[in-house]
Amino acid sequence: MSVPADLCEACDAVCCRLTVVLQPDDDVPARFTDVTEAGLQVMARDDEGWCVAVDAARMCCSIYASRPEVCRRFAMGGPYCREIRAEYTDRGLRGIPLTMY
Ligand code: SF4
Ligand code: SF4
Repeated sequence: MSVPADLCEACDAVCCRLTVVLQPDDDVPARFTDVTEAGLQVMARDDEGWCVAVDAARMCCSIYASRPEVCRRFAMGGPYCREIRAEYTDRGLRGIPLTMY
């Protein structure tokens, strides 16, 4: 099963709407972080749910080189990626067509 290199380019960075819990070794600027009611340090999200580190103009991660470990481990085209894209499309949030590879 091949995954085209442009899969993320055809996506609304849906994975960047998930809760990203920061790990001890993560080195993210404090202005991009938040603390949950449970006391977890996470990536902050905007009113629409996207991580505040998303560069909306270029639809990419503005801190890619120092992105959190959780983001590094997220597999493009993997089961979770496909699942959240399908859910996002089903809810009609932006109507980006989902292509299963
Ligand atoms: S990893 Fe998956 S969910 Fe995230 S931007 Fe790429 S295609 Fe979209
Ligand atoms: S840190 Fe970057 S890769 Fe991780 S959720 Fe935020 S924008 Fe996406």
